[in-house]
Amino acid sequence: MTDTTAPVVDILCVGAGFSGLYAAYKAAEQGWTFAGYETAPDVGGTWLWNTYPGARCDVESVYYSYSFSEELQQEWTWSERFAPQAEILSYINHVADRFDLRRHFRFDTTVVAANWLPDEHLWELTLDSGDTRRGRYLLAGSGGLSTPKDFDVPGLENFTGLTVSTSRWTISLDDLAGKRVAVIGTGSSAVQCIPLIAEVAEHLTVFQRTPNYVFPARNAPLPAETVAETKSRYPAVREECRHSPGGIPDRPVTDRAFDVSDEERQERYERAYERSGFLGVGAEFADLLFDLKANRTASDFMRQKIRQIVHDPRAASLLEPQFHALGAKRSCFGTDYYETFNRPNVSLVSLREERITTMTSGSIVTESGSYEVDVIVLAIGFDAFTGPLFALNVTTPRAGRLQNAWSDGVRTYLGTMTAGFPNFFMIGGPQSPALASNVVVTIEQAVDWITDLISHAKAEGSEVIEPTTEAQKDWVGITEATVNQTLYATTDSWYRGSNVTGKPTTFLGYVGGVGKYRRMCTEIAKRGYPGVLIGGQAVAPGIGRIDEEIA
Ligand code: NAP
Repeated sequence: MTDTTAPVVDILCVGAGFSGLYAAYKAAEQGWTFAGYETAPDVGGTWLWNTYPGARCDVESVYYSYSFSEELQQEWTWSERFAPQAEILSYINHVADRFDLRRHFRFDTTVVAANWLPDEHLWELTLDSGDTRRGRYLLAGSGGLSTPKDFDVPGLENFTGLTVSTSRWTISLDDLAGKRVAVIGTGSSAVQCIPLIAEVAEHLTVFQRTPNYVFPARNAPLPAETVAETKSRYPAVREECRHSPGGIPDRPVTDRAFDVSDEERQERYERAYERSGFLGVGAEFADLLFDLKANRTASDFMRQKIRQIVHDPRAASLLEPQFHALGAKRSCFGTDYYETFNRPNVSLVSLREERITTMTSGSIVTESGSYEVDVIVLAIGFDAFTGPLFALNVTTPRAGRLQNAWSDGVRTYLGTMTAGFPNFFMIGGPQSPALASNVVVTIEQAVDWITDLISHAKAEGSEVIEPTTEAQKDWVGITEATVNQTLYATTDSWYRGSNVTGKPTTFLGYVGGVGKYRRMCTEIAKRGYPGVLIGGQAVAPGIGRIDEEIA
């Protein structure tokens, strides 16, 4: 029912995670009215849902946090190098309280449709209650990894034991004590929970389809001196993150894998392995993500590490990544991951050797055998980026539903807007740097840029903002040309949508670096937003190859 007493707001926003909260903060700063909607009962986004054992961020917490307030970054102290889920959620709650942001959101409320009203120049949201709400601009802060992938494991409906998914975890680790547990999947979520489940389960069977490269997380308490040192120069640290390739302080390398001797390369990989993190082994030489032969030196190093750690040669060989280059799929960071396969109560099933054919009430049946289990943990990932956007049923009379407009692949302008959908903005959307960056840095940049564009349009007296199809084509060309130079382009993964059956294959990120992306966005703003129709006018129809102009 349309609430006729509810005023039209400036900003409608979906999601109360890092994106939505910062959007609410910025809107308040601008004096704009804001109405946010969130399915969950509280703030937190991904950090509210993903409560599986061992969940923590693998970007260091001193960087994976907001930079917009010096007071906030001085008063909050992270306890570990990689904060656990509960601590990140406490931080998000602290931010919501400190800046009084909760009042802008309605919780336990799902947006089921978003319709553009062309005559009024307004978006109308339909909520799961049936209520509607109108606003001038619609911001999707719904996250990239928030819609769980469908349970596409055969026969799951036959299983009568407990089934739990890492992305909607509902039990405690104690509930798995003494149980026969199966974990299906070996991505980042599985890598974090497997060692902890193994410690309590009677038996754990890991069902692996594709072995990943798992680096030691090297998590540890953060020494007080490190915290003090970071805080003493936080503004400079944040600036470094904003202008880096990945949103964390860079460790630039220019030499290539074969520029050095075999001995030196080995020594450097050993040091990088000790250091770990996203600037570890996979970033030790400049050509590792671009040249398969160079990459093989790093992947061989990791395979050798796995063979050194895992005692059973057959398990070791199954765990050795064989099907993709190191770094071409999202790297995983774990604590005692490979060591866990030395435990007597842990076994490994390769789904490449024996596919799951069905399940019974108490077992998983493969082509070669049957595995009796009490609990199945699904760690099978997400319908990344487009899943959460399509769930909103964003529709305009001219372009139809977003899922139809993108039926043969994603098309965006800077990962922020899409032609045919006026006044609709994605925070860290597909084809933005969100996929391969410290996402908090990407979110702040996106919200700032969108806010500046809206302010600019308002100053021009215009209500309607929309990218041109030419500019969108330019941006899609830039994202494709950038990724096609890398080994990401050679690998099936959620990065390309290939983890979801029937999803069109589009690389879902811009991988030219957050620093370069920021420079391009800044330049576009300076030039008066070429490629954006503001009140029907554009200073230029496209952005050309701005990536080539901006070093
Ligand atoms: P994921 O990386 O997509 O991994 C899903 C796993 O499930 C893969 O091993 C996949 O195998 C397997 N799988 C999927 N469908 C299957 C099926 N039907 N049968 C058997 N196996 C199946 O998902 P995720 O681990 O949840 O991680 C997703 C992303 O979330 C990460 O890449 C990361 O960006 C983020 N994340 C971050 C953290 C962190 O910061 N520490 C933690 C968790 C997640 P294939 O590889 O063969 O498809």
